[in-house]
Amino acid sequence: MSIAVCPGSFDPVTNGHVDVIRRSARQFDEVVVTVLINESKRGMFTVDERIELIGLATSDLTNVRVQSWHGLLVHYAQDIGARAIVKGLRGSGDFEYESPMARMNKSLTGIDTYFLLADPVYGHLSSSLVKEVARFGGDVEPMLPAPVHRAVVQRMAERSGD
Ligand code: ADP
Repeated sequence: MSIAVCPGSFDPVTNGHVDVIRRSARQFDEVVVTVLINESKRGMFTVDERIELIGLATSDLTNVRVQSWHGLLVHYAQDIGARAIVKGLRGSGDFEYESPMARMNKSLTGIDTYFLLADPVYGHLSSSLVKEVARFGGDVEPMLPAPVHRAVVQRMAERSGD
């Protein structure tokens, strides 16, 4: 069985992420979306909330599951018997950032990283930019799966009282 890992911070998952997950799910028997835990960064959503939102956004994909991991990604990939890591590439910035990581992961474990070119429709989307636009009242609805958009709107309303 071919298993691929789609890692990221997913704070929150965007339509760009879902496109990469969806396309990966067509190529591998199973795709494990892995929320990487970074304790030094307080996100908009907790890790459990991110997992729940990814689950809602990919509920039609029967071969996708969602987990979290703290530590080296390749150790997790090895643990679950994954043969591939899949990442989306929006442009040359992503390529520069991802290449050394992909080579390091390959040299540590032999696990290859597969890159999917971002659909141009989503090429400008990043979680951080979406959050910034939302914070200043911009319309992010077209950029997010519906349940994620609802959660962002709710979180903004909760935080406006902070
Ligand atoms: P972000 O950069 O949005 O904070 P993550 O760190 O969660 O995202 O990224 C996880 C993976 O998803 C990375 O491989 C990243 O390049 C990819 N990715 C993020 N946004 C998009 C997008 N709009 N289209 C394709 N891939 C994307």
